[in-house]
Amino acid sequence: MGEVTLLSCSNVRKQLPDFLDGAVDVNTAQQMRWHFGRCNDCRMIVRSAMDTFRQFFPEKRAVNSLHKTHAA
Ligand SMILES: [Zn+2]
Repeated sequence: MGEVTLLSCSNVRKQLPDFLDGAVDVNTAQQMRWHFGRCNDCRMIVRSAMDTFRQFFPEKRAVNSLHKTHAA
């Protein structure tokens, strides 16, 4: 891993829909997970957003876990 540009809370929240949709790139997703692991506010937001996402798009694969990395 090289230098990581840390995301601010506002950046994380702005990209949250894309994150849930799996539309962010791997590095961004990783940085967001890192942020969620350290920021209670954003973690609460992403948890409730995930619940909402699953309700509206049950057929879509949401990002299930903040902790597991997806093994290819
Ligand atoms: Zn935050």
